[in-house]
Amino acid sequence: MRLSKITKFKPIIGLEVHIELKTKSKMFCSCSADYFGKPPNTLTCPVCLGLPGVLPVPNKKAIEQTIILGLALNCKISPLSKFDRKNYFYPDLPKGYQISQYDLPLATDGKLKFQVPSSKFQVKIRRVHLEEDTAKMTHLGNFTLIDFNRAGVPLVEIVTEPDFESSNQIEEFLKYLQRLVRWLGISQADMEKGQMRCEPTVNLEVMKNGKIYYTPLVELKNINSFRFVRKAIDWEIKRQVDEFEKTGRIKEKGNKTTRGWDEKTGTTVLQREKEEASDYRYFPEPDIPPIKITKFQISNFKFQISELPQERMARFIKEYGISEYNARILTEEKKLADYFEEAVREAKETLEPTAIANIIINKKVDISKVSPVELVKILRQKQTTTKIGGNDLEKIVLEVLKENQKAVEDYKKGKTNALQFLIGQVMAKTRGQANLGELKEKLIKLLVN
Ligand SMILES: [Zn+2]
Repeated sequence: MRLSKITKFKPIIGLEVHIELKTKSKMFCSCSADYFGKPPNTLTCPVCLGLPGVLPVPNKKAIEQTIILGLALNCKISPLSKFDRKNYFYPDLPKGYQISQYDLPLATDGKLKFQVPSSKFQVKIRRVHLEEDTAKMTHLGNFTLIDFNRAGVPLVEIVTEPDFESSNQIEEFLKYLQRLVRWLGISQADMEKGQMRCEPTVNLEVMKNGKIYYTPLVELKNINSFRFVRKAIDWEIKRQVDEFEKTGRIKEKGNKTTRGWDEKTGTTVLQREKEEASDYRYFPEPDIPPIKITKFQISNFKFQISELPQERMARFIKEYGISEYNARILTEEKKLADYFEEAVREAKETLEPTAIANIIINKKVDISKVSPVELVKILRQKQTTTKIGGNDLEKIVLEVLKENQKAVEDYKKGKTNALQFLIGQVMAKTRGQANLGELKEKLIKLLVN
């Protein structure tokens, strides 16, 4: 991009993402962690209210889920990990400190590759650690209401390296991360419910008169939807360009400003000058022994996550010839992907995988009510009872060929995948009611003519 005085600039953006884990109980006590929509201050006990004389007991499930997420993000799992106290004074933190992890997080040094439109992007993951959520504060005019139901809910924090250069890359990363944690079954990561929160840190590398400068670091808060992530970052980049042009202010070591996204004005607003890490006076949590993780445990966790959504999606396209669009929907949830494959296995090549995929997606099959075996049975019955007449089928095939000239050309060039695609299109139009053998025959006949 070119501007009046600045010759060139490049955004440098890193992310901190907080995700609430889906566990039955809170991180250090037995209160329910399922707090959304519950009456305020009903899910509390002396531990999560920070009363004196209590002992925290770590939630094993939350530790396991964090390790699984670390592995899915290609991190190294620390054989020895521990909890630390992060001290700061704020009303949402009844103990006066948060139990978090400082120098020995559960997972470090990962990377995640994901798709941004038309290309792949890789971000390095600095660390993944486990902590407890704070109470929820609601500001009403001069009053502040506080709800301790959220205090102590397990919270995982993912910190990336500042590898992002655009709001687009960040949006795609967050969407993939959401899909990943849902796939792993460790969180619903609903941004609007606050189950997934992100704080981007933004500054710019600016080239001016042949010299390179860095603008001051700004951390953005109050972002609660994918749309706002994009808007807040784009606005902040523009603000930093303007500020640099006007003041020439550059980054100072150890100084980071916090700005909050204000959706009403569509701008970011200065909140505070950020404390440095040393201000938190971290020290090891004396009430919780260190966590040791063996190689055997790690290989067990690895086994549980053998195929992640993107890998499975790629395999569905390659192995079953289904469209990228359908493969994407089928791999939205692990349950659904497993269901589809079970139905394909059950059909034993009597039904096309593309037809099975189309039925599941277009008919919105309730997979909790219809088993894969039943689905295949229904499909087979339909094939024999409600066959579409020969003339009707030929009409639909001709229509599909006309609408998909590219696939027709691909087929003529020898790309056999194109035939699968066309079969899928006809099946979609006939709502899966065409007889497969007849359809294939007709399609090939019309294609070679
Ligand atoms: Zn509690």
